[in-house]
This record gives sequence, structure tokens and C-alpha cells, in this order.
Amino acid sequence: MIARDMQNSIKNGSIIRAMFEEGKKRAKIYGAENVFDFSLGNPNVEPPEEIKQAIIDIVSSEKPMNVHGYMMNSGYEDVREDIAKSINRKFGTDFSSRNIIMTVGAGGGANVVFKTLLNPDDEVITFAPFFGEYRGYVANFGGKLVVVSPNTVDFQPNLVEFREKITARTKAVIINSPNNPTGVVYSEKTIMELSEILREKQKEFGTDIYLVSDEPYRELAYEDVEVPYPTRYFENTIIVYSFSKSLSLPGERIGYLVIPNEVADYEDVFAGAGIATRILGFVNAPSLFQRVAARCVDLEVDVEVYNRNRELFYNSLKSYGYECIKPEGAFYMFVKSPIADDSRFCEMAKEKNILVVPGSYFSCPGYFRIAYCVAYDTIKNALPGFKALIDELGNQK
Ligand code: PLP
Repeated sequence: MIARDMQNSIKNGSIIRAMFEEGKKRAKIYGAENVFDFSLGNPNVEPPEEIKQAIIDIVSSEKPMNVHGYMMNSGYEDVREDIAKSINRKFGTDFSSRNIIMTVGAGGGANVVFKTLLNPDDEVITFAPFFGEYRGYVANFGGKLVVVSPNTVDFQPNLVEFREKITARTKAVIINSPNNPTGVVYSEKTIMELSEILREKQKEFGTDIYLVSDEPYRELAYEDVEVPYPTRYFENTIIVYSFSKSLSLPGERIGYLVIPNEVADYEDVFAGAGIATRILGFVNAPSLFQRVAARCVDLEVDVEVYNRNRELFYNSLKSYGYECIKPEGAFYMFVKSPIADDSRFCEMAKEKNILVVPGSYFSCPGYFRIAYCVAYDTIKNALPGFKALIDELGNQK
């Protein structure tokens, strides 16, 4: 008999993964060109050509033991140094290898952070709508996820409720910007106010509260919108970064943590995160891709492909009568369901071979998420279905 927790996890599963599987099943029945799968954030832009070149160069020119062997749990020191320098160039920070830990993507990184920080029943606050996997990441270490309800006006965090939800047990706050599922970028004003509240509450309770900034979409921002670098606003910040989306490498499982010197109990947090990497069973981040990441850390991603998709989807859905705010980053749109029951709406969409994810999964019912990291033609061909759905539901009213 497997663990009760896992029985629940299997039952609840990841709705997103289930949708993705459904898409593949439907593609076999109806033909791939007739299934419009907007369920998964799997980048459709190819990785830059330089990635392939870097892999070839590394495996053909470096000593195999420098590429495939074990290294420090935190990752190759020269790789960490190169990444620190790149961050410093971009954000005017002052990091070195002693602030970087290489991770198995953002998912691996977030688990390392929570393993390092959480005692049973410690609280971790997040803002709805949020990436549903946080539930598992926090529960893995006996933590309690505390959800601040959504601000559906502009989807910036609801800071009034946030202030009320911080307690003496609050160990961490996890934010994600550009955001999955809304595509919203948390503004500088938001980050400043949030930081101020955290400072105030740390003082009130005499505790340290870590701000964990989950940033796989940092580079995917449109029209020069600024994505503030949170370590510059709040000293107790840990960055969880990933190359999955920015370089279209989600299967390679590579990312890093930034743990600044200013973080409370820095020495312990850094040492703990190194050990957590090992004892969670990752041991270290994939070695070849650490080296690739170091060489490619300054590559610019071509966001124009996503931008074109965003414009088409947003403008079309608005013209049909859907309510949605225009995403500023990532490759997601969070659209108000024409009916209150978002799961039912997604079922109805499925009947038209359109796969989208209910807002409930992100703790924001009444909405659905579209991942528009797909071919432009997939969107074009799906649009009549979206129009038919709102027209039919409009007629029902
Ligand atoms: N955090 C957010 C907000 C995500 O959307 C994702 C993936 O979709 C992850 C973390 C996990 O990313 P990775 O593939 O780097 O583990």
C-alpha cells in the first residue's frame, strides 16, 4: 500500500499534465491539426542555435571527467562565478559563486529552498492565482501554504490581505513574476510595498521572513516592461531561477538559486541548500547543462514569437466578448470564464478539442488559463471554437 499522501496526489494529480495527456489522446483520434492544446507551458520556440554549438564544443573539447563527473553539491565553482557575474552585469548586484547554487530547474530549486527553511507547520504565503505545484513543494516538508485571495482587478498581489495573513509562523513568502497563470509582471511599486510590509512584520514578530522569488519567466517580458530584481528591494530574498523557459530547455532540468550575503543566517542557508540538493537525491544539477548554462547565460531569447501569439489571442478574444487583462510577460493568458463554473467551461472547450486549464487549479475559480507557447496557426485555427463557445454560452443567459 503506498503512502496516503501519494494516494491523494494521484487522485488529484496535476490537472495540467492530465490535459496534456488528453491532448495527445485526442490528437490520435481527430488528427493533431484538429486539436488545440493550450494546456502546458512547454516552450515552442526552439532553443537558440548557440546551445547546440555549446554542447558540441563542451563534449568535444573538455576532458570527460570535467563534464560528466560529480562535483560540489552546489555546482561547478567556475559556472557559479560566471552566472553571478552575468546577474551583476544585468542588475547592478554584487554576487559571486558563494551566492549561487545550481539546481534541477526551478522546481528542484524551490524544493531545496523549502527543505532548507521549513519546520513542520511553518507557514508559506503565496498570492492567488499561483502555480499549483507550490502546494506539493510546501507540503513535501510539512509546511502549510497560506493563500492570499486574488485581486482580479489587475492581478497584482492583494497586499491588504497579505498584511493580515502574516503571523509569527510565517517563514517564507513565494512570489512569481512574470506570473503563471496571469502573465502579469509585479510592478516596482508592488515589490516595494511588499518589502515594506515584510520589514514591518519581521520587526513586530521578531522573526525572519524569506521572500522566495520564483522566476522562470524573468526574460519573457514584452514591450520593454521592467521586471524588478527583488534582492534590490528586500534583503531577505532568495531567487529561484530556471533556464527551462528562457532558453527553451525544460527537459534538461537546469536552473540556479541566488542566496545573497544579506539573507538572514546566510552561512546556514547556503550550507543547508547545498546539503538539501544532495539529500533530496538530486546530488547536483545536471553537469553538462551547468556548463552549457554558463556559456549561454547572456543569450537573448526571441520573445517576438510569443508576442505575436499574445497579440492575436488577446485581440481576438476581446473582440468576441471575453474579459481578460493583457499579459505583460510569460506565455500565459488568464481569461474570465463566460460561466462561473470554470471546470465546466473547460469541459465544454474540450468538446471542441480546445484544451485550457481551469482557474481553480491556480486557486482562482471563474477563470481559465491559456498557454500560448504554440504555433501561430494553432491559435488561428482555434479561434472559431472560442467564438462559438462564448456565443453559445451567451445564448444560454
Ligand atoms: N515555477 C513556475 C511558476 C512555473 O510555471 C514552472 C513551470 O512551468 C516551474 C516553477 C517549474 O520550472 P522548471 O521546469 O524549471 O522546474
